[in-house]
Amino acid sequence: MEHQINSWEEYEKVYAESVANPEAFWANVAESFSWKKKWDNVLSWNFDGPDVKWFEGAELNITENCLDRHLAERGDQTAIIWEPNGPKTPEIRLTYKELHAKVCQMANVLKSYGVVKGDRVCLYMPMIPELAIATLACARIGAIHSVVFAGFSANALADRINDAQAKVVLTADGSLRGAKVIPLKDIADEALSHCPCVETVLVAKRSDKFCHMQAGRDVWLGEAMDAASTDCPAETMSAEDMLFILYTSGSTGKPKGVVHTTAGYMVYAYYSFVNVFQYQQNDIYWCTADIGWITGHTYIVYGPLLAGASSVMFEGVPTWPDAGRFWAICDKYQVNQFYTAPTAIRALMAKGLEYVAPYRLNSLKVLGSVGEPINEEAWQWYNKYIGKNQCPIVDTWWQTETGGIMISPLPNITPLKPTYATRPLPGIQPCLLDAEGNELAENDVEGLLAVKFPWPSMLRTTYGDHDRCKQVYFSMFKDKYFTGDGAKRDADGNYRIIGRVDDVINVSGHRLGTAELENVINEHDIIVESAVVGYPHEIKGQGIFAFVIVQEACSQEALEAELKELINTEIGPIAKPDRIQVVSGLPKTRSGKIMRRILRKIASGDVSNLGDTSTLLDPSVVEEIKEAVLGTA
Ligand code: ATP
Ligand code: MG
Repeated sequence: MEHQINSWEEYEKVYAESVANPEAFWANVAESFSWKKKWDNVLSWNFDGPDVKWFEGAELNITENCLDRHLAERGDQTAIIWEPNGPKTPEIRLTYKELHAKVCQMANVLKSYGVVKGDRVCLYMPMIPELAIATLACARIGAIHSVVFAGFSANALADRINDAQAKVVLTADGSLRGAKVIPLKDIADEALSHCPCVETVLVAKRSDKFCHMQAGRDVWLGEAMDAASTDCPAETMSAEDMLFILYTSGSTGKPKGVVHTTAGYMVYAYYSFVNVFQYQQNDIYWCTADIGWITGHTYIVYGPLLAGASSVMFEGVPTWPDAGRFWAICDKYQVNQFYTAPTAIRALMAKGLEYVAPYRLNSLKVLGSVGEPINEEAWQWYNKYIGKNQCPIVDTWWQTETGGIMISPLPNITPLKPTYATRPLPGIQPCLLDAEGNELAENDVEGLLAVKFPWPSMLRTTYGDHDRCKQVYFSMFKDKYFTGDGAKRDADGNYRIIGRVDDVINVSGHRLGTAELENVINEHDIIVESAVVGYPHEIKGQGIFAFVIVQEACSQEALEAELKELINTEIGPIAKPDRIQVVSGLPKTRSGKIMRRILRKIASGDVSNLGDTSTLLDPSVVEEIKEAVLGTA
């Protein structure tokens, strides 16, 4: 594939070039796309605004690059293999030609309901082909998509629809998740009663559930598409026209409506995809994320399609009909690159090896991880039992705001180091700062992770509130994008993410990262998963509170003694937890991340205001933990 790095020497050379002359570097990558008009200026920027523009003056449509561009050469190649919820239901394969036709049909449907360039369209859909088609259909006509994960509640959906002032909503009658059917349209209806901005609701049919259709507003999507033309010219977009809005996971507070624009996002989605996964012609690639998250946007929809890849899209859940489903799918399609999250790996690891044993997994070449730090035990399990010690693991660090993977090994190129995301991709200039914002230029240091130079897929604003974007990301340190994460850089220049800055615990003046502590605790045989937070401590400033999920019942006394001993040897006496609480679940966002801020509140004994919990997966977990810690719910 074009612009793919092949060796460590090449990485070092390309990286150095990308820093010495970023504009020439990115212009060269951009040359391989199809443009309606080339750019006048590669980059103009200041982080004070912030005001960042890539490929100014250029005109293009990203869907021409995802679809039309491939038709002559690989029109009959599979673009998307859709694996349904039920293992016995036949899959759907869409070739590039078929996907192109469907995208045009849906784009025409959107147009017929008055959607024009610049309008916002909200997609609240299950992982069905229509969701991928809908994102591209929006992009085809210049509408801005805002995908809302279909696991969100009516309230969370209403907030996002109203924040973006969406004119049209796409949803489905139901969403199939394992043995459950979620009445998606009913939830959407509840939200819509608070959303006067919505004029039309297009409903895909996915279940046998009856759903109410409101006359004059609701339309069956399938029927409308069948009647629509398969020809839809691609709208001409400027490089910096908005492509989509996507709300962050809400791990640290109220979700932010991150805005990505067209040309830069396109260039970086492609470049990062082909390099991090080392995708080769005819490979089968699978990212298990939901399109409702940034990972799904960049590495299910845009990145793979820009590269002309064949990629799997999965509707169901990893544990149904049993915990071997991921591996069954890997074997079924002979998946070559597999990309998932630590939360899924830990969950499957806890179910036992009998769910892995029946599968060969011999097609796998590259394994990926994203979303949270991957602890060493999970890394080793993934490496040994899934990768059979043959597949490099790419631990990819990035954010909704960064649009694409920022720090990651390149498989078979970068020397791996478990729990380290290792090196920045070419064009990415991360740095570590002390609390005053001074750059820590040496290696073997720890600090706040920031980025000191723009990259093509960085966020441009937070929707409707540019000041929030400035405050959250660009005000903390002058001329730097601040990530909110803390990191370490080892003597060789490898980065390790040590957790969110808000989560760092300060014990008697020693700063401890949550990831580091959890990494050690999780090594204990009996521990399935853990979350560590700090709480006010009279003597030490902050004490360490560990919430743990155990594999089987055990004595509290023995558990405490063993965990303290383990931490004592692995990190040191300073890091020994003051309190250890066994719980049956941890508060997680719907994308599977631990919301430590809630645990921090509970640990400090203050549960009066838990902040924004709209993205919490299971609120009952919080009640249980409150009860366990404070004796009250
Ligand atoms: P919010 O910004 O609303 O609090 P969020 O940060 O969870 O939500 P995302 O953009 O989905 O929203 O997640 C990005 C964050 O996930 C990163 O800032 C980092 O904390 C964490 N993360 C992602 N990938 C990795 C990784 N490979 N290693 C460590 N942490 C990671
Ligand atoms: Mg974040």
